[in-house]
Amino acid sequence: MKNCLLCKKNQADKKGSHIVPHFLLKRIVNIEGKSGRDYELGFVIQEFDTTTHFGRSVPSDKLDEVFGELSDQEIEENQHPFVVDNFFCSDCENRLAQIESEYAKTLIKSEDKVYPSGVRSELGLLFWTSVIWRISINRKSGVELSKNQNEILRTVLDRVLKKELSEINYEEMKMANDIQKISYKLIRCPHYSEKHATHMVFHPTFKKPYSLIIDEYIVFFAFNDNYSDYMDKDFFGIQKEISGSPSNKIEGSEKILPISEEKMREFNKKLIAKIINQRVKKLNLFWDELYISLGGNGRFMPEEIKRELFAELTAKEKKLGRRHNLDDLEKTTINVLKKYES
Ligand SMILES: [Zn+2]
Repeated sequence: MKNCLLCKKNQADKKGSHIVPHFLLKRIVNIEGKSGRDYELGFVIQEFDTTTHFGRSVPSDKLDEVFGELSDQEIEENQHPFVVDNFFCSDCENRLAQIESEYAKTLIKSEDKVYPSGVRSELGLLFWTSVIWRISINRKSGVELSKNQNEILRTVLDRVLKKELSEINYEEMKMANDIQKISYKLIRCPHYSEKHATHMVFHPTFKKPYSLIIDEYIVFFAFNDNYSDYMDKDFFGIQKEISGSPSNKIEGSEKILPISEEKMREFNKKLIAKIINQRVKKLNLFWDELYISLGGNGRFMPEEIKRELFAELTAKEKKLGRRHNLDDLEKTTINVLKKYES
């Protein structure tokens, strides 16, 4: 058995570890009306592929609605991308759980101007550090921190997290060089998740700061207190909010800037449009390359064929869980191209 990725000492014996804390994950992926584990039904959107996964307790009529018939192999291979085995030891899993359950309490609090979340910023910093670090080392979101950054976060967590929350030494944290350099900003649309679908997107190009959209939170995580990526770039219409939101460092209480439901809806709309746009661009490139390699005339696949491919890919009669994945892309492309073979 491998060693635990956090302490690097004990054997990584823990199964079913959550990469994204359960209290947030369940708001993103659980089927309606269910908050327990094993009720997730989620889609992970990557460049080309959309992978799906479902919890053991999702009722079969719901699965049928989304996938149609599932083969034994599909059921066997079904794996949650954010729940992992043998990453951590039980001790470290418990250390992470301590800050998670404390942080989960902040969900109930909100105001319509910048407000203290109810935990000290040291705890908030540990919580978001643990989320960003786990997402990065899980390597399933398409974004990873640098090796060096991963190691900085691991060292901080391993050194500071304790078996009991009360044992964490906040005074020592304040003196630590590596922790002093880290800061984060939080924007939240309180209770958005109760009315709207939410998702998790780790922005692939912004690194100063790293930017994570998770449920109704938008998190900006900065090494060396550097937020320069937002000086001159648009971030789906909320740059003003980003510069106006307080930077949380290791002192005082954690502060959150709330945004309105309308602002959040606009933000999500722009974000999703960007993701779709990226995918269409990649698809276009892929089809052009395929067209050239098949000996087609010119450098681009004719628009007429592409239009037909898009129409086939997005056909409404396909079950949701069968659309937008690599398997479907391959089959559809072959079928359509066959017609044009001559
Ligand atoms: Zn460990």
